[in-house]
Amino acid sequence: MILVIAEQKDGRLNRASWEAVAAAQQLAGGQVPVKVAVMGSGVAVAAGELAQAAVAEVVAVDAEALGTYTPDGFVQAAAALIAQQAPQYVLLAHTYQTRDFVPTLAARLDRALITDVIAIRQADGQAAFARPMFQGKLVADVVPQGPAPHLVTVQIGAFRADAVQKGQAPVAAAGITVDAAAIRQRPEAPFQEAKQAVDLSQAERIVAVGRGIKAQENVAVAEQLAQAFGAELAASRPICDNGWLPMERQIGSSGQTVAPKLYVAVGISGAIQHLVGMKGSRTIVAINKDAEAPIFEIADYGLVGDLFELAPALIAELKK
Ligand SMILES: Cc1cc2nc3c(=O)[nH]c(=O)nc-3n(C[C@H](O)[C@H](O)[C@H](O)COP(=O)(O)OP(=O)(O)OC[C@H]3O[C@@H](n4cnc5c(N)ncnc54)[C@H](O)[C@@H]3O)c2cc1C
Repeated sequence: MILVIAEQKDGRLNRASWEAVAAAQQLAGGQVPVKVAVMGSGVAVAAGELAQAAVAEVVAVDAEALGTYTPDGFVQAAAALIAQQAPQYVLLAHTYQTRDFVPTLAARLDRALITDVIAIRQADGQAAFARPMFQGKLVADVVPQGPAPHLVTVQIGAFRADAVQKGQAPVAAAGITVDAAAIRQRPEAPFQEAKQAVDLSQAERIVAVGRGIKAQENVAVAEQLAQAFGAELAASRPICDNGWLPMERQIGSSGQTVAPKLYVAVGISGAIQHLVGMKGSRTIVAINKDAEAPIFEIADYGLVGDLFELAPALIAELKK
């Protein structure tokens, strides 16, 4: 059995959980049952949503002590859940929360953890999990060894949420109790850098601006293009390093990983560290004056030309 641990916050499912379900269904190949668990306090609605997937069961791990996320609480609950369900694989989306507690969980269980998986292949009849290494320069196929369960986190955007096979699954309560006294952390309200802190991983459309924009005052051009598309504004690293846009808008290996329906790269060359953060986007449009820029290798639509001519023309068309 393959167990997906979905993520919710205040009862709302993280969209990336669907991607983990899609990955699990692919791994199962219709041969192995898939179950989805969701942990928290008051998870009935999230569990009901997950029940629309073609899975064997949705398991609700509902405990008051899980109301506020803590690594101790989630490790405790997940360890009990895994002991109860005895899965072969445990899949999670590679979110900040997953990164926070799953390494501890793997250490607690003394089991292998393969992170940041971008594809699942078959190698000699065994599942191999592809993950980027060395800033995306290499992709390694990793086959877990040792006893089950193997823990796997899937990179955001690597699997398609809309590829999830739909169905009707029963919801069961796990009946797991969490010992609140064993939780050492007393979290304060989550840190928010900016008032309108943006979670680009949830954005449907993104316009990203790169060094081709040349000067801070020109960022307004990209901003107007983003507005015209109804998109979030993002950037390559030099733009954020220069302080022209906040760090939270950086896309790439040291920024956010995103998979919007539309990604418009404006004056971005397409360095590998940028590509690993956005190549899962459904439709990629690149505007660059250099026809040889690597961004065009992954772009669905390429506009070769000066962004200072093309962006205003696009804005004018979009406004029509
Ligand atoms: C450890 C490490 C981590 C990194 N992490 C990240 C990361 O998370 N995200 C990230 O983005 N980068 C990251 N980088 C940096 C990365 O290697 C590149 O340097 C960076 O992505 C380049 O940004 P850019 O494409 O905006 O700039 P450039 O590479 O300078 O490209 C600018 C592009 O604009 C085009 N251009 C110029 N003028 C115009 C014009 N008028 N009209 C149209 N096009 C024009 C040029 O042809 C060029 O292709 C990292 C690097 C390292 C070493």
